Parts: sequence; structure tokens; C-alpha cells
Amino acid sequence: MNLLLMGPPGAGKGTQSKRLEGVFGLVQLSTGDMLRAAVKSGSDLGRKAQAIMERGDLVPDDLIIDMISARIEEPDCANGFILDGFPRTVPQAEALAVMLAEKGGKLDHVIELAVDDDAMVQRITGRYTCAGCGQGYHDEFEKPATEGVCDKCGGTEFTRRADDTEDTVRNRLNAYHEQTAPILAYYKEQGVLKDVDGMADIDAVTDQLKGVIGGA
Ligand code: ADP
Ligand code: ADP
Ligand code: ZN
Repeated sequence: MNLLLMGPPGAGKGTQSKRLEGVFGLVQLSTGDMLRAAVKSGSDLGRKAQAIMERGDLVPDDLIIDMISARIEEPDCANGFILDGFPRTVPQAEALAVMLAEKGGKLDHVIELAVDDDAMVQRITGRYTCAGCGQGYHDEFEKPATEGVCDKCGGTEFTRRADDTEDTVRNRLNAYHEQTAPILAYYKEQGVLKDVDGMADIDAVTDQLKGVIGGA
């Protein structure tokens, strides 16, 4: 089974993908995480992407399409995946359809996390991640049980993304509405688009997603 979670920055795509991975035995494919790893490694792709990401603009389609088409060929994707952050433009969505058709696969569910833009600034500026295991947290909405200690791995070091600032978020929200939201119409026409209330609390969103996806 292949899933696609859609929604602006802060909608909860990463948080929910990580939860669904375990429930359905799927692997999360976050193009944002892949690009941040490329930047950290100093690869060719990373050097091309870094300044673009810091501004909150979109990295060119050809770079993203090459990156994801290589990734979905890896053995851990054979059981299915959850796309988080890709596709983000109509050409990316069209390229994905070709890739999947070549593999004899398809998107089983495309789910939009419907949220209010105004609330996304607060979600993004309060977001942080465990440096040890990657578990996501929020200053107000998803705190670890013991302050400063990761629930999952006991780690005490946390990181914040360089692009999670108020200014950049506004640019990323604009990019979403201008370049990414048109994809919703593309999937709607194909009859695969469903939506879930992304403003509910985190557990309630997970329950809604399980209901839409079914089978678990
Ligand atoms: P995305 O991957 O769509 O950009 P994240 O999953 O990283 O979004 O969520 C952004 C921030 O908001 C994180 O700090 C997360 O803990 C928090 N968050 C996610 N879903 C919710 C929710 N339903 N209610 C409140 N906060 C949330
Ligand atoms: P968020 O979870 O907040 O929506 P991501 O981690 O998905 O953000 O993406 C961070 C940045 O990486 C984006 O602002 C963009 O610069 C780049 N990026 C990630 N995925 C794509 C993509 N599919 N196409 C173009 N740029 C991308
Ligand atoms: Zn951790």
C-alpha cells in the first residue's frame, strides 16, 4: 500500500507518517529529511539545495524527481511507503504517476490534512526534534513526559530546523498555496483524494487517518 499525506508546513505530515509507519508496516519517505541529510553530507545535491531551503523556496523538480525515483527502488520500499513532502508541484505529481506505473504500483490513498494557515506559524516555530532518534516534539503541543528528555530514546539533545522561523514559514505557506495546492485538484479528478481534520489533536488525527486507510 502506498500513501500520500498532503498539507502545508506544520499540518502534521511528519508526525502522522511516523505513527502510521508502525501501524501499517510502511516506510516514511520525507523529501525534506532526505534533502537535509544531503545538505549535512555536503553532497552535490546538498550544495544546490541549501540556500533554496533556507529561503523556504522549492528545490527544482528535476533534482527532487531523481532523488525520489532512486529512493523508491530500494528494498525497504517494496511493502509500500508514505510520501511526506512529495509531490509538491504538478510536474512532480505527473512524474510520480509515471514512476508508479512503471513499477505496477499506484497511490492507494491521498489524504489532505486540512488546517488553518494561521495556526501553522505557531506549530512550526514551536517544533523541535530529538537529535538522537529524530522523534518530533512541540514546545506546547507535544512535550516529552520529562522536560528535556526524549520519551523514545532518553536523549537530551534536541535540534530546531534553520528554516523554522516565522518569516520563512510565511514564504513556505505561500509556496504551498501557489505551487502545491493545485495538485489537490489533480488527485480529486482521479477520485483518490480524501480529507481529514488536521486541526484536531494529534491522537484524534491518527484515529481519523486509520479510519480512512482502514485494515488496522
Ligand atoms: P509537517 O511535517 O506537516 O510540516 P509536523 O508533523 O512536523 O508537520 O508538525 C509540526 C509541529 O506541530 C510539530 O512540532 C508537531 O509536534 C506539532 N503538531 C503536529 N500535529 C499537531 C496537531 N494535530 N496539533 C497540535 N500540534 C501538532
Ligand atoms: P515541512 O515538513 O515543513 O513542510 P519539509 O521538511 O517537507 O517541510 O521541506 C523542507 C524544505 O525542503 C522545503 O521548504 C523545500 O525547500 C524543500 N523540499 C522538500 N520537499 C520538496 C519537494 N518535493 N520539492 C521541492 N522542494 C522540496
Ligand atoms: Zn530520541
